[in-house]
Amino acid sequence: MNERWRYVAASAGLVADDGRVRPTIFAEMSALAARTGAANLGQGFPDEDGPEWIRELAVESIRGGRNQYPPGRGDAALRAAIAEHERVRYGLDFDPEREVLVAAGATEALTSAVLALAGPGDEVLTLEPFYDSHAAAIAMAGAAHTTVPLVPGAEGFRLDVDALSAAVSPRTRVILINTPHNPTGTVLSREELAAIAAAAARVDAVVVTDEVYEHLTFDGAEHHPIATLPGMRERTVTISSAGKTFSLTGWKIGWACGPEQLIEAMLAIKQFLTYSGGAPFQPAIARALSEGGSDIEALRRSLDHRRELLLDGLQRAGFTVMRPSGTYFICADASPFLSETVPDGDAFARRLPEQAGVACVPVSAFCRAGSPTAEALKNWVRFTFVKDEATLLTAIERLLARR
Ligand SMILES: *Cc1c(COP(=O)(O)O)cnc(C)c1O
Repeated sequence: MNERWRYVAASAGLVADDGRVRPTIFAEMSALAARTGAANLGQGFPDEDGPEWIRELAVESIRGGRNQYPPGRGDAALRAAIAEHERVRYGLDFDPEREVLVAAGATEALTSAVLALAGPGDEVLTLEPFYDSHAAAIAMAGAAHTTVPLVPGAEGFRLDVDALSAAVSPRTRVILINTPHNPTGTVLSREELAAIAAAAARVDAVVVTDEVYEHLTFDGAEHHPIATLPGMRERTVTISSAGKTFSLTGWKIGWACGPEQLIEAMLAIKQFLTYSGGAPFQPAIARALSEGGSDIEALRRSLDHRRELLLDGLQRAGFTVMRPSGTYFICADASPFLSETVPDGDAFARRLPEQAGVACVPVSAFCRAGSPTAEALKNWVRFTFVKDEATLLTAIERLLARR
């Protein structure tokens, strides 16, 4: 029997003792939150739908007959809008015919890239902590997963540049990064990106970069796509998505931009994963990308306000918090609340819904089981602030009452 699914699920920590696939910690915490009536600051999806005019465009598309397979590479208008967005915002030029690929969310783009570019005997290097699908894609490819830590300090969670040099080997085919970074909220600096670029060039690796939070930055932090660094456009696949930018996560419209040869390799995989999808949503997102600037800015401002609210509340409740420069997550050190019976962030997160009526997720869920980074971050938990203000205030009130 082919047991690869078991290998993939196990590598994501999802095989239970009875051999069945168990839900991810995110689904588990959401279920627990629902059961206990907890304010759910665990799973990171918005509780408000994106702009109505964009949703109306999708309705019009359905009524107007956009209901059959769109082209495998994606709707031409959407590819043009993506290329235009990259050009205007970052000065990156991509040919929409050959260098842009639409996918079923950033997730499918990421998985296609990893499956296309790495296999048994190869290494894929990610940051640690990492987004869960990164590890699953590497396991599906049969490649070895190596990591470089983000280390908490006075300047937030920063890339360990020395560890990066040591972690890259001639077998490293792909360096898979994520900025702005989930869960830490780090926006990688130009210096950190330059170190990654140098490492990739040294071993001739491709960089795959997950930039789904590209628009959600705060405190004047600037998001730099690594493809804008000297020499990097030719070895980088840049991935993003409409889900986080427009609070339309269920539409699953994502994309990749990169040199033709890499996009072609991804297309080979992607056309037998979904082939294509989201026909009525693609033209709506095309318009959103070209005309939705003020909606994005409104979301960013509103998130900034909610970030301050939650940072302040968590601090008052006794957590040591890390101020995020991007995304919609705050990592907090739960050490002051730990004890013999609640020894780490995982136990803390599992207890909190029942005990205080608030849900969060442990940062260890974003690490390899038993890794040095998992050990270093074992007391940390992640809260999301992409919830309405009333939910955030309820959560803060409950955490304060618990002191
Ligand atoms: C939400 C998220 C994704 C998934 O994006 P989709 O477009 O929904 O597939 C990918 N990467 C990170 C870091 C995310 O937080």
